[in-house]
Amino acid sequence: MAPTFTNSNGCPITPDAFATQRVGKHGPLLLQDFNLIDSLSHFDRERIPERVVHAKGSGAYGYFEVTDDITDVCGAGFLDTVGKKTKTFTRFSTVGGEAGSPDSARDPRGFATKLYTEEGNLDLVYNNTPVFFIRDPSKFPHFIHTQKRNPQTHLKDANMFWDYLVSNPESVHQVSILFSDRGTPASYREMNGYSGHTYKWSNKKGEWFYVQVHFISDQGIKNLTNEEAGKLAGSNPDFAQEDLFKNIKAGNFPSWTCYIQTMTQEQAKQAPFSVFDLTKVWSHKDYPMRRFGKLVLNENPKNYFAEVEQAAFAPSHTVPYMEPSADPVLQSRLFSYNDTHRHRLGVNYTQIPVNCPITGVFNPHMRDGAMTVNGNLGSHPNYLASDQPVEFKQFSLQEDQEVWEGAACPFHWVAGDAEFEQASKLYEVLGRYPNQQRNLAHNVAVHVAAADAPIQDRVFEYFSKVSPKLGQAIQKETLELSPRK
Ligand code: NDP
Repeated sequence: MAPTFTNSNGCPITPDAFATQRVGKHGPLLLQDFNLIDSLSHFDRERIPERVVHAKGSGAYGYFEVTDDITDVCGAGFLDTVGKKTKTFTRFSTVGGEAGSPDSARDPRGFATKLYTEEGNLDLVYNNTPVFFIRDPSKFPHFIHTQKRNPQTHLKDANMFWDYLVSNPESVHQVSILFSDRGTPASYREMNGYSGHTYKWSNKKGEWFYVQVHFISDQGIKNLTNEEAGKLAGSNPDFAQEDLFKNIKAGNFPSWTCYIQTMTQEQAKQAPFSVFDLTKVWSHKDYPMRRFGKLVLNENPKNYFAEVEQAAFAPSHTVPYMEPSADPVLQSRLFSYNDTHRHRLGVNYTQIPVNCPITGVFNPHMRDGAMTVNGNLGSHPNYLASDQPVEFKQFSLQEDQEVWEGAACPFHWVAGDAEFEQASKLYEVLGRYPNQQRNLAHNVAVHVAAADAPIQDRVFEYFSKVSPKLGQAIQKETLELSPRK
């Protein structure tokens, strides 16, 4: 039977959806026409604040399955048995563009997965690149502004884009990945996901490890050339959303094989870089990849706004035996993501079905607030009352795991020319494949050609420190595209 058409109050609207109350047949409208006011005022409020970053995204449900035992590394419940499956929701995104921007933008891709575990939600808020542009979180708003629009012209601005990057050379590793062909993935299915940050996992004996996580695409890596990406931006700006939705609908479920790299505290002390430095990867040779699971996406959301736009991921949403490390960018993300959700969705955002833990939530002091829709714990006391005992689960103790001491002091982490070492290694990796080094130079040149000459010169110098050959190739093509007078 067809549903009865009603206003938001449930009252049937009669005689049809478009009849408005007015004086006579052609006179002015009446303020008493609640149905019209109800409809227009709801329409006026359809938009919630767009995410400042990661605004354009696509999502799908799926599951995580344990394929190999890693209980010697991590005691989390969802990992305790090989074959165990946990429901997931994953959201992919571009970073810098607005909600309507093209999916083919040269930009890192967000790769965030929520696991609805029996110990609460675990959010893996990853990217498709293993490193990032910064390691001092105070730089984040500055950096992001330079990749967005000029405050006066409201245009993307090659001068501020490159001025920031060359002034902050810790960005060079990520910039080199971004301007390689991996900067324009052919779909969300055909790219990897990386934790980027180091995390700290412990087993049930209390032994602990620094961990990096890699989700390697079972579809293989496929990328667009700069020119293909540019064309798609005009002909099908939503191609990645279309690709994901249609493949899942057709039963062609994308999957990723999940690996960890681990380091003990002693190994971390010996490593040639800090494990808390988000601009560095851990060499595969020195810290081998160990398989532990599979992520499969097999169900499209029923409603984009309810499930994808309102999905709220945060690195602070974690489970027992999985902790953040002291990586300063991760530490600041522990604050910033939840803060954004409170701004966009309200203080009760975890009550929205896509964000709601399957465990149930019991914290009787956290009550009320806008949009309380879960019964608000009824008549239960709104504090820890002495006659209402609660249970506290005990997990292995972390007291002796990492001990920090020192004066509270301002610290800006500057590393000098060591910044360029891993970007140089990447350039060597690109040399193993046809055209990859050439494409990196080309992709930078077509972008930096729009910048002023002094900025271009600094970009040539910046990439020359990765490889003199790369710097020269960029300079040659840039000057052909934007000849100096
Ligand atoms: P390896 O030779 O063992 O690994 C190189 C890795 O580079 C590959 O496993 C692959 O990682 C990644 N890679 C391959 N082709 C490309 C490409 N076209 N664009 C970007 N990345 C590519 O050496 P190392 O572990 O010592 O790393 C060398 C360099 O490789 C690093 O400086 C870093 O820039 C890059 N890299 C390293 C990763 C790591 O975790 N060690 C991860 C990704 C890149 P994958 O299998 O993840 O696709």
